[in-house]
Amino acid sequence: MPAYNEAMNLPRVVPEVLAALTALSPEVELIIVNDGSRDDTAAVALALCAGHPQVRLVDLSRNFGKEAALAAGLDHARGDAVVLMDSDGQHPVSLLPRMLQEWQQGADVVYTVRRTRADQTPLHRRLARLFYGLINWGSRVQVPADAGDFRLLDARVVRALGAMPERHRFMKGLYAWVGYRSVALDYEPLPRLGGQSHYGLGGAFRLGTTGLLAFSAAPLRLMGALGLLLSLASLLYGMWVVLEYFFFGISVPGYATLAAGMMFLSGVQLMAIGLLSEYVARIYDEVKRRPLYLVAREAGRGLPPAADRA
Ligand code: UDP
Ligand code: MG
Repeated sequence: MPAYNEAMNLPRVVPEVLAALTALSPEVELIIVNDGSRDDTAAVALALCAGHPQVRLVDLSRNFGKEAALAAGLDHARGDAVVLMDSDGQHPVSLLPRMLQEWQQGADVVYTVRRTRADQTPLHRRLARLFYGLINWGSRVQVPADAGDFRLLDARVVRALGAMPERHRFMKGLYAWVGYRSVALDYEPLPRLGGQSHYGLGGAFRLGTTGLLAFSAAPLRLMGALGLLLSLASLLYGMWVVLEYFFFGISVPGYATLAAGMMFLSGVQLMAIGLLSEYVARIYDEVKRRPLYLVAREAGRGLPPAADRA
């Protein structure tokens, strides 16, 4: 469970999730990844570790964002199957038995699809639809629409994800990229227990941009296509102007066309350069090979490390 400023929710959510998990299996652990919270999430998580031997805390050195916190949780998990859950109570524990059952029946990934987006504004919903349309357009890897991070992963999927070296993480794309036998379940997200969402429309937009740039070169191709289209149009226009001059004797009054054309073209060029810079900035971030997250401390017991298990 990634947790950023969730001190008020953890004392309710953790025991609830833990109870649901222990009802399913005697061998469970619950990892709280404190993503550099500014409230007492760390203290609350430490108290939970002291109260429950199954609870572990991975305390990141600062706020790295949910995607990095999820990666940290996956890297530290020791179970044969791992479930990712938010720590604000939005992911219903009632789904856990079915997720486990699907896994026991051979699924490697059990993901959940939200039935509605009633909690979001119409603009947000429309952008989400556009996003899934764009990212899946002509792509071999299809990212299922409205599937969130609430999912169960088999240990080998966790290993596959851990081997992904990229810094700019779009987990939903990565899950799709690794593949494996996947099963979908639908659910209705519950309202957040306390506090506020950290992802408004702006956050969703940023994550969406990361996803698009990381999983498709379509934006670049579209720019190329636009360039081609514009050259063709200007060629035709040029021919028309020549015709006008020779056949109709119209000498070309130029200023307005010239100015508009030039401004339009420099706009398009700057846009293309801006798009290119997005990719270049990301390439720069990738080549720096900085770690995805840093762990400041760990606490709690959880499951024994794989080497100690029979
Ligand atoms: N979260 C995190 N780091 C962040 C932002 C959020 O670990 O920088 C966690 C947060 O504590 C919660 C989950 O990610 O457990 C989902 O965040 P939130 O509820 O704010 O997003 P929403 O459910 O509105 O998409
Ligand atoms: Mg939430």
